[in-house]
Order: sequence, then C-alpha cells, then structure tokens
Amino acid sequence: MFEDRTLLLIFSILFLAVLVALIVYFTGGTRFSYAHLIYLPIILAAYFYKIKGGITAALIGGFLLGPYMPLNTSTMTMQGLENWTFRISLLVVVGTFAGYLFSLLESQLEQVNQIAYYDSETELPNKLKLKKELEKEIEAENDFYLLILSINNFIDIYKMIGFMNFSNYIKKLLQYIKDFEKIRDQIYYINESKYGLILKKEADLSIFLSQFVEYMDHAVEFNQISIFNDISLGITAYPEQSQIADELIDQAFLSLEKAASKKLQYWQYQEQDSSFKESNIGLLADINKSILNDDFELYYQPKVNLVDRSVETFEALIRWNHPERGFISPAEFIPRVEQSSLIEPLTEWVVKRALNDINKFNQKNEDKNYSIAVNISARNLQHPNFAESLIQNLEFFNINPERLSLEITETDLILEIKENIKKLKKLKSKGIKIYLDDFGKGYSSLKYLKELPVDYLKIDQYFIKNIGLEKSTENIIHSIINMAHALNLKVVAEGVEKKEQLDFLQELGCDYAQGYYFARPDTKENIIKKLAEEDKYILNSIDN
Ligand code: C2E
Ligand code: CA
Ligand code: CA
Repeated sequence: MFEDRTLLLIFSILFLAVLVALIVYFTGGTRFSYAHLIYLPIILAAYFYKIKGGITAALIGGFLLGPYMPLNTSTMTMQGLENWTFRISLLVVVGTFAGYLFSLLESQLEQVNQIAYYDSETELPNKLKLKKELEKEIEAENDFYLLILSINNFIDIYKMIGFMNFSNYIKKLLQYIKDFEKIRDQIYYINESKYGLILKKEADLSIFLSQFVEYMDHAVEFNQISIFNDISLGITAYPEQSQIADELIDQAFLSLEKAASKKLQYWQYQEQDSSFKESNIGLLADINKSILNDDFELYYQPKVNLVDRSVETFEALIRWNHPERGFISPAEFIPRVEQSSLIEPLTEWVVKRALNDINKFNQKNEDKNYSIAVNISARNLQHPNFAESLIQNLEFFNINPERLSLEITETDLILEIKENIKKLKKLKSKGIKIYLDDFGKGYSSLKYLKELPVDYLKIDQYFIKNIGLEKSTENIIHSIINMAHALNLKVVAEGVEKKEQLDFLQELGCDYAQGYYFARPDTKENIIKKLAEEDKYILNSIDN
C-alpha cells in the first residue's frame, strides 16, 4: 500500500490540477493563457513519479481542461474535439519527456552518490556515509555506540591469500560479522583494515563485546582455508562522549590506539583519553631530547643454554625513564617510534650502548665472551646504510661481529622479503647472528623460512604461556622445534616463567630459554655484579 507521504503527494498534485482547472474556468476559459498553468502539476508528477507520473498527470490535466471546459465562459463557447484531443496529446508528450529527463537525472545522481558514498570494491558505504548516518542519528537523538573494528593482521592475510582475493575475503569476513546475531546493521568501510559499526544502545555493551570477541576468535573459511582474524575495537558513545559526528569518529579511533597500547582487544573512550593523541605527538618529540639526556637505559635478559644452563648471550631491552611521565614501557612507545624515522637514531643509540656494555661484560671475564642481541625494526633494515653503520660501530668499539646478534620479527621481514634476505645475508657474512623474533605470532611460511638467512627461531611467548593448558599449542611447539632443527636452526623459547614450561621445552630439545623463571631483564650494573660471581648467576635465579 501507499505510505502516508506518497498519498499526500498524489493528493497535492491532484489538488493542484483541480485548482488550475478552476482558475482556467473562472478566468474566462481555455482561450486565456492561464491554461498553461496545467504544466505545473504535470512536471511535479513527472519529478516524483517519472514517466508514468508525467503521463498520468497529463491525462488527468488534459481531461480537466478537455471536453467540459469552455473555450470562453462568458459566451459558454465549447472547444472542438480536435482542440482538446490535440492539447491532451501535447501534454502527454511533455509529461513523458519530463518524466524521462527526471529519471535520467536521478540515475546520474545515484551514480555520483555511489562514487561519493560507497567503496567501489566492497560496495560498502564509506566514511563519508558513516558520518552522514551519525549526523542523522544525532539529529533524531537516538542513543548509540560507535565502534571501529580493526583487522590487525590484515597484512598477513593479504600475503597469505593474495592481492586479488583480498576483497573477496573481506566480503566473506563482513558477512561473517553480520551473521553475528547482534549485528544486523550496516558495516561501513574506512580502509582495508578498519570498519565502522553503529550499535543501537539497547544492548548491554560489555556482554556484546565479550560475546563478539569470542565469536571473532573463530576462523573464517575462505577457499578451503581457515583464516584467523586478529581484531580489536575502539568504542565511543553518543550522547555521553560527544554530540558531534567528527568528534565521535576521532574518539573511536583514539580508543583503538589506546586498546593497542594497552594490549587489549577493545577500549571504550573516556574523558581523559582526549589527552592521549597530543601526548603521542609529544612523546615522539621527546625521543630526541631523551637520547641526548640519556633518559633511556638498556636492561639485559640472559638467554640460557638448556643443555648446561650456561649463558652466552643477553638480550638488550630498552627502558625509557621519561622526565615527566616516569617509566614508559617499550611496548607502548616502540610501535609508535617505528612509524617514524625516529627509530633510526633510537636504534643507533641502542646499538652503541649495547656494544659499549658488551665490552664491560667481557672485561672481568676474559675467558668468557658474552654476546648481545639487539632488537631492530623493519625500518632499520630498510635504511640503505644500516649494515655499514653497524659494521663501523663494531670497529669503533673493537668488537668481533660474532658478539652481536639482531632480533627481528617475522612480520617485519616478510614485508619486503627479497630485499631483506639480501640485507640479512650481508650482515651474516660479517658474522652477525640473526634471531627471528615472535615466531608463530604472525604469518609463517615454510617457503620463506627455508630461504631466510637466520640462525635462531624465538618461539613467541603466547605459545609458552599455553604449555600445560592447551594440547594443540603444545603440539605446535613440538612441530616448531622439529622443523627448526630440520632447517639447522636453534630454538629459543621466550617468556618462560614456570618449571613445567621449562621441563616441557627441555623434553622437546629446545635449545635456549629466556624468561622470568631464570631472570628478569636487569640493569647493566646488576648484570656485571652477577657476572663477577660467575656461575652463581643462574643458580641464584632458579632458587627464587
Ligand atoms: P620482545 O623482543 O618480544 O621482548 C620480550 C619481552 O618480554 C620484553 O618486554 C621482556 O621484558 C618480556 N619478558 C621476558 N621474559 C618474560 C617472562 O618470563 N614473562 C613475561 N610476561 N614477559 C617476559 P619489554 O622489555 O617490555 O619489551 C617489549 C617489546 O619492545 C620487545 O618485545 C621488543 O619488541 C620491543 N623492544 C624492546 N627494546 C627494544 C629496542 O631496543 N629496539 C626495538 N626496536 N624494540 C625494542
Ligand atoms: Ca626480542
Ligand atoms: Ca619476542
């Protein structure tokens, strides 16, 4: 049936047509130019109902000014048949033409709309549309939550299924998300890894979030492979947090960053988070200052050889003692620094300090030759002079390159795999050892692993945490160790905190372990003190 609006429109157009007929009648009949007023309801009908509206209105209007409408009311002269049939035909032509023009215009407007408000690949409404929608909801004073969903491992997925399949996969994934019964609403495209959702505020948010996160833990099937999505959510609420669409979008994004910095799967915006963004920029600006002022410090954590419990290598882990904010975790600032060129001077500082400290470690123990492992980022490797400057530093501190190793994450290496292989080979040819960090966390490919010039695999902490808790994880650890050994690589387990974890790893022939079970990262001074006591170093820690 018709909606109210449609009924009203039709009625108005009819009313206008009747009004025109009355005007024509009372102003003397069709011989006067008022008869042309009949085009008004016809064009109006053509505008709203296109060709069929134009024709219908033309017929009605033509009939109203037709056989019963006098040519001249004062003499009551009636029109001839040819007169009014000609007029009706003319009106029908005009109505048809107007209807056609309006429908053409509308389809073109639709196309423009489609380009402006929809993503061409996924066909989802875009950010602009999201903003419009938010404005609409705000106007109507409908309470809602705005959620930004981030697919954190989208690069891994990209690499795994290939460029051409990605948008199909995203469609599949979004369908999966929509199948979650509490999300029936539209999903908005922001970029390949970020999607917006407007959630009506009837549901209990915390229940929704925990159920949704659990739902998203399941793999999504695509071309017969199961793909896991590492997602996080940034959330804000209307009207509590803001009544402006732009601000709400900013807040949701900020919350996403906040979630990442806190290693949480979701974060809901709070008043005090507004300082977070500025503080990020401020934080980066402080890096240079802190390098000069020596507000950074390196802590060292031993890698323990599981055959004889000896220590050969220490991993250098940076600490930032910010003059105003106090201690800031590297997990918080490194990912931000890595996004800028500041990572270069920072890594340079780390390398120099680490090389300086190895010499100190080795001073008192001339028979022992300790090595240091330094964490580096993808961006460091991309710098054309990275290898040269490392080698220069080694020469400057008079250190055998064998005493230095680099830890780099798998995900970082995969991004420009061919280039990176070349660069790593160059470093290795000098004697520098390479650790593949956080192994298993991101995208792992046997093909690449075989080609990568690395010496050690570091099994990600996540797997170690689940020893004794998850049989499947234990099986994975088993496979990683066997595979690494088959490729002639040594295996390091990181994050070992418990005896059961150590026993399990040792049983499987894991070569090295790092973790609180043996020692927490410690200052250079404490390490030097413990090294002076030599082998007690490890034994003391085990007694804890
Ligand atoms: P990562 O390279 O995976 O380092 C291991 C992290 O686990 C360190 O955190 C370490 O303190 C912590 N850890 C060690 N043993 C245990 C354990 O038994 N249990 C638990 N729960 N944690 C343990 P940290 O020092 O906060 O560093 C975090 C991340 O920051 C590092 O992860 C690394 O990716 C990055 N990072 C640290 N220093 C540097 C640096 O100098 N340069 C660069 N580019 N990145 C760095
Ligand atoms: Ca590391
Ligand atoms: Ca790691």
